[in-house]
Amino acid sequence: MRTRFAPSPTGPLHLGHAWAALMAHESGEMRLRIEDIDQSRARPDWEAAIYDDLRWLGLDWCAPVLRQSERMAAYASALDRLWAMGVLYPCHCNRRDILAAASAPQEGAPLTGPDGVIYPGTCRDRSRTGPRPAGTALRLDSDAICDLIWTEAGLTKEMPATTYRDGIGDVVVARRDMGTSYHLAVVVDDAAQGIDLVTRGEDLAEATPIHVALQGLLGLPVPAFRHHDLVRDGAGKRLAKRDDARSIASYRETGWTADTLIARLRQSRIAPEV
Ligand code: GLU
Repeated sequence: MRTRFAPSPTGPLHLGHAWAALMAHESGEMRLRIEDIDQSRARPDWEAAIYDDLRWLGLDWCAPVLRQSERMAAYASALDRLWAMGVLYPCHCNRRDILAAASAPQEGAPLTGPDGVIYPGTCRDRSRTGPRPAGTALRLDSDAICDLIWTEAGLTKEMPATTYRDGIGDVVVARRDMGTSYHLAVVVDDAAQGIDLVTRGEDLAEATPIHVALQGLLGLPVPAFRHHDLVRDGAGKRLAKRDDARSIASYRETGWTADTLIARLRQSRIAPEV
């Protein structure tokens, strides 16, 4: 099995990342991907810290490292393909427009999906012909999605097309400010890296049908998926990048060894005091 660990270099890695890397490492031959499409938040020193932390943990990876900021041409060509199929449309709505349209009195409370409020479809009728528009968000028309099937932790999962349409809707696959999105980049890169098992935190499980839908449209292989539990602090709150206190580096600096830390994580997903 080829797996991947795909951190974003936007802050120090914490114990949740250590657990994610461990899951990828022990499930197969681990590849590394630096998810730095958000160039306003990614920093080279955070990327360097990722390598240091993984080395200290003893979790080696197979070269080459894939850096998403160098992959814009690959994302553009996937978007060109989807655009030529007529399954994308440009969207000019901002968050406020979407919330207003989705909460119109006749609509009831707005429904939410993996990407927040389900898009009410305001821009669906915009032109899908001619060259692919640049500098605007592009949404994936959920009417183009067929019934989906994939495996999660070895079990078959299915999602009928109607469930996708009603529960996920038309998600953004190219953001106006970045020319891609997490969903598109992950799908294009998992295929490019030959990943056959995606291991990642359960907070991303909801995004899986979007990825399987994109894989189907783009003719890419559908990997197996396994979503693991998240590491939490003593109060049950999941760790976030801003909790520097539980960073891997802070454990290292206070004398923890990688072996003890990993053993603790295997026992429980509650981050110990540093
Ligand atoms: N970059 C994501 C993160 O740091 C992981 C994405 C994925 O594994 O699909 O949480």
